Amino acid sequence: MNIPFIDLKKQFSRVEKQVRENMDTVLDHGAYIMGPEIPALEERLAEYCGTKHALGCASGTDALTLALMSLDVKPGDAVFTTPFTFFATAETIALTGATPVFVDIDPVTFNIDPEKLDKTIEALKSGDGSTPLPKVDGLTAKGIISVDIFGLPADYEAIKAVADKHGLFLIEDAAQSFGGEYKGKRACSLGDITCTSFFPAKPLGCYGDGGMCFTDDDALIERLRSHRIHGMGPDRYDNVRLGITGRLDSLQAAILQAKFDIFPEEVDLRDKVADTYAELLDGIEGLTAPSVPEGYRSVWAQYCPLAKDSEHRSRIQAALQEKGIPSPIYYPIPLHLQTAFNDLGYKMGDCPISEDAASRIFAIPMHPYLEREQQEYIADIIRNA
Ligand SMILES: *Cc1c(COP(=O)(O)O)cnc(C)c1O
Repeated sequence: MNIPFIDLKKQFSRVEKQVRENMDTVLDHGAYIMGPEIPALEERLAEYCGTKHALGCASGTDALTLALMSLDVKPGDAVFTTPFTFFATAETIALTGATPVFVDIDPVTFNIDPEKLDKTIEALKSGDGSTPLPKVDGLTAKGIISVDIFGLPADYEAIKAVADKHGLFLIEDAAQSFGGEYKGKRACSLGDITCTSFFPAKPLGCYGDGGMCFTDDDALIERLRSHRIHGMGPDRYDNVRLGITGRLDSLQAAILQAKFDIFPEEVDLRDKVADTYAELLDGIEGLTAPSVPEGYRSVWAQYCPLAKDSEHRSRIQAALQEKGIPSPIYYPIPLHLQTAFNDLGYKMGDCPISEDAASRIFAIPMHPYLEREQQEYIADIIRNA
């Protein structure tokens, strides 16, 4: 039984009529760039997330870039983040000329550890060498990018307290967590600026690249808006700062409008699929199923158990592969050990929890339309490996 990792076809069959209708509307009016679909979607998703403003962007990566530009991040700045994430989180920091400083994760949630975050900021400020830091002189602590990995929000009460204590900005990388919740608030409302992605495989995906920034701050939304279109000022041909071509396009917004119609229901279905996995994987020797702390809701962008060790993982992956079931690894190399960041001078052992997770973690198929029978089949293979 071949089981797809994410079943976008099943979803398309549900939204097809509305997607085609919405796309036809764009083809009829012809405003492919910044058409009426953009502000309509921004308003609708801001309301869902509980923020004052939203800004459609060309991708999750551009959303992060725009957030960093709007917060005036520049060479010499240190931005603290997790090494257990997709490359773009730290890549965008480095592209602004600033330096990513990696802080290890919590072993249960895989999100940045707020206590280690505080210690690392203290170490950077005091220069006492008590935690591993990048080999870059004269850095100034500027901000934090926390990531809601696999759809589970990070611990924002604790992270915000650390940010406030040190006077740092907080960006929430919610590329995987649109639809998640933290203590009664929606993901995407938990940072000074939040960035999400509509890459097709994310919980709310479009049919190409797309992303969005969220904020409550009136001044920041104006800066984000300007940076999104080449640093545009009130006079369209007098650019007041540098920017990028960071717009979401009208066709993708039209597609997202149709897909968002069924999104809240899909979040509930994802929860059910995760509950079924938890039940089926319970008691498998050496396996740790993912868990969600009290007061949190994951949107299950990925469902990632931990094997006992890398040898156990290899056995499981081989058994799954033999039956046509994909089990990709998110993420095999923590960012502090990626070649592109060699210059920062990090080494194996600097973020041991992330390194351990990377050696044992694997993902199994997760989407709203997975059937119990398919999940039983997957769980049996894992148990027998
Ligand atoms: C997907 C992802 C991004 C980048 O989003 P794109 O839309 O692919 O540019 C950034 N951060 C995290 C955590 C992601 O999962």
